[in-house]
Amino acid sequence: MSFPAKHITEPKIAYFSMEIGLRDDIPTYSGGLGILAGDTVKSAADLCLPFVAVTLISRKGYFRQELDGRGRQTERPAEWDPSKLMTPAPETVTVRIEGRDVHIRAWIYPVESPRNESVPVIYLDADLPENAPEDRTLTDHLYGGDDTYRIKQEMILGIGGVRMLRKLGFQVKKYHMNEGHAAFLTLELLHEHKRDIEAVWDESHIWDTEAVRNLCVFTTHTPLEAGHDKFSYELYSKVFGDYFPENILRRLAGEKNVNMTLLGFNLSKYVNGVAKKHGEVSQNMFPGYQINAITNGVHSYTWTSDSMKRVYDKYLPGWANEPEIFVRIGVIPDNELWDAHLDAKKKLIDYVNSVSGAGMDYETLTIGFARRATAYKRADLLFTDLKRLEEIGTGRIQVIYAGKAHPKDKEGKHLIEKIFSYREKLKGKIRIAFLQNYNMELALKLVSGVDVWLNTPLRPLEASGTSGMKAAHNGVMNFSVLDGWWIEGHIEGFTGWAIGPAPTEIVPDNNMNKTDADDLYYKLENMIIPTYYNDRKAWIRMMQNAIGKNAYYFNSHRMMRRYVTEAYIR
Ligand SMILES: *Cc1c(COP(=O)(O)O)cnc(C)c1O
Repeated sequence: MSFPAKHITEPKIAYFSMEIGLRDDIPTYSGGLGILAGDTVKSAADLCLPFVAVTLISRKGYFRQELDGRGRQTERPAEWDPSKLMTPAPETVTVRIEGRDVHIRAWIYPVESPRNESVPVIYLDADLPENAPEDRTLTDHLYGGDDTYRIKQEMILGIGGVRMLRKLGFQVKKYHMNEGHAAFLTLELLHEHKRDIEAVWDESHIWDTEAVRNLCVFTTHTPLEAGHDKFSYELYSKVFGDYFPENILRRLAGEKNVNMTLLGFNLSKYVNGVAKKHGEVSQNMFPGYQINAITNGVHSYTWTSDSMKRVYDKYLPGWANEPEIFVRIGVIPDNELWDAHLDAKKKLIDYVNSVSGAGMDYETLTIGFARRATAYKRADLLFTDLKRLEEIGTGRIQVIYAGKAHPKDKEGKHLIEKIFSYREKLKGKIRIAFLQNYNMELALKLVSGVDVWLNTPLRPLEASGTSGMKAAHNGVMNFSVLDGWWIEGHIEGFTGWAIGPAPTEIVPDNNMNKTDADDLYYKLENMIIPTYYNDRKAWIRMMQNAIGKNAYYFNSHRMMRRYVTEAYIR
């Protein structure tokens, strides 16, 4: 046994995620889901939880985004070398895929916490010389390829992941599936929990689903029907062979196709959405299941700028491992809080000017918008009425954008080009920059360096959202549609501002864009701009509220304590 003994003496929570975003030089994440997984692991380490994480090595990463002068996106592979950062384990496991044995090895990366604890992250890798050439690339591309590629990846993650944990000597007391990609792990657990009975009149009795349910926790992340992975049974039987009987799987994963969310739901004792509203929306999508809610959080230390860290360290020692200390935000003198913000703002503006030549300044109210470029996030809502925007914003605001579109998301790509064209139209009036290759480093610069963090999703499609929580950790004001976490964090004019009406159960109609845009302009003109320029004291009060109320709560330490008490030890 080569694995460090301290890791295998105690039963663990095994956390499975297709993507984990820990740092930019391990580019195995695409966005919110992966960053959340990374923050989860970091908090587990800080809180000394018995935890191990399993994911894929994604040797070519997600992709590096390049934009030309018109905003057209090209994707470059984000190749990286695991051997520079991780240790390979000598153990391998095999998974039989399409009738071939695919050998898989593991790279181990320990996530260290300042308290001398560490959580191992296991990266599964199929790039071994004994594998067929087409199998060697199965763990290369995160969310790349077709359905066949994807189902094979999910086999490696779920089935290969459980086998690797066994091989390395881990004992596991709970399996936590972060989204449906990992749900095949339940089939491997069913194999491990076969009942030893002789004469059965219904072969389904062999499979001890209750035992597996007691071991599993499932978190769903999207209220979009299309966001749930589904595979045809034809593809399933081609790839899985006789691994698990199809007639039993149909009872667990759906009659029509292999629905990974249903599979996870049916074999998990605890199921949750990632914000209260998202829990309700998911409950309506899946009647008959009890769906709980644990609202997401972000890792406080990771998502706080250096200058803010310095004032927190000075006045709120211990804050990073006990974010509840933010309740005492009022002890920080106004001018020191403001200076710390200005420091982060200067760094951002210098950076923006150096890469984009946008000529931004330190004084102007700066609005940030960065997230996946996809239709429902409505990155172009700010430009609904250009004339109005010009009247309100000329000389008073500057706007910084960033975000990648999924390579196959044509609409998302078009959105980026649209922002580029608005930038041209507003030249000489409102300075706008679009920064390429949105990643963690850029995200921290943005969420700490702007004054206002804008978010305009179409309700109810934002399951949680987390970048606004990062902004709150830096005293940056949220200005957002009431969806996801913001429904819970928002107090009007106190922790930030809402855009559009209060949340309703009704799916919004076609007029939603206009309703939301009107409110956006109204508040920008009559509340945000005047407060920023004319009432600095009120602005700083709101910064304190964002930190003392929102960062205080929307952090991953609180989130992990909730998972422990509600999901893991039940
Ligand atoms: C935080 C983060 C996200 C997720 O932000 P949302 O507000 O949930 O869209 C995506 N990408 C990166 C690089 C991030 O840091």
